[in-house]
Amino acid sequence: MTKDLVEHIDRLIRQRPASEPALTPFRELALLMAEAKPGVEPVVLEKEVVRIKKNEGFPLFPREDLPLDLGAASALLKRFLEHLSSIDRNDRHGLKKALEKTEAADEWSMALFKAILSQDEKGLSLLAQDVDLDHKVLHFLGQTAMTPSIHALRDAVKASLDREAWDYGYCPLCGSQPDMAFFARTGRRYLHCGLCGEEWAFSRIRCPFCDNRDQESLGYFEAEGEEGFRVYFCRRCSRYIKTIDKKAFEEAAPMELENLATIHLDLLAGENNFR
Ligand SMILES: [Zn+2]
Ligand SMILES: [Zn+2]
Repeated sequence: MTKDLVEHIDRLIRQRPASEPALTPFRELALLMAEAKPGVEPVVLEKEVVRIKKNEGFPLFPREDLPLDLGAASALLKRFLEHLSSIDRNDRHGLKKALEKTEAADEWSMALFKAILSQDEKGLSLLAQDVDLDHKVLHFLGQTAMTPSIHALRDAVKASLDREAWDYGYCPLCGSQPDMAFFARTGRRYLHCGLCGEEWAFSRIRCPFCDNRDQESLGYFEAEGEEGFRVYFCRRCSRYIKTIDKKAFEEAAPMELENLATIHLDLLAGENNFR
């Protein structure tokens, strides 16, 4: 998976040079991710429980209770911090401090993972302040360090998920909100989970965040001269979701890369007061 990720990064940078500044730092992390060997606890999912959860709109796991190999995530976080604090970056000092925290005790990484999984913004800010790092950077590193473990879990439970028949705005696996969407070649819209990367079908004219279906208050805009990318927004809740039309591309990259490669669309959405 992650070897593919590096190949996709190289191709995206070749085809869309503007994505280079966002993707190059991530390329190094992707190489370290490829070496991670997370374990998966055997997950027993009873068919009846899975069926009831699906019918009642409950994800397979609440995100704060995902059975993840956090030991592997902690080891990977250390490798990220070792690498990043050894190169020329403005926040090198903070990264070094964070590395010292992770080396002193595993509890620090565990507190970070817990804050991310339970969406404890305050806890995350305190951890970031403690080491003089931007909380967004720390969030990104913590979440990326968990990604191989999360993907191992996703692979282990994928047979229990029906991505075509889950009609909710949150992830069927972990209950998280989507961070991206795409139109498949069939024209159907899919949402992409911001945490575990699961993808599921969702109606086209409907806001995934507030369930608004009123066509008048839903809309989209495009960046000039950029075919295949749209930003869908909802005037009721002021949220937006970046959306890729896969028909416009010969080969689509994994959504997590498309998300990084389209940061300019987040800026445009912010300028238009969407969040
Ligand atoms: Zn998910
Ligand atoms: Zn909405």
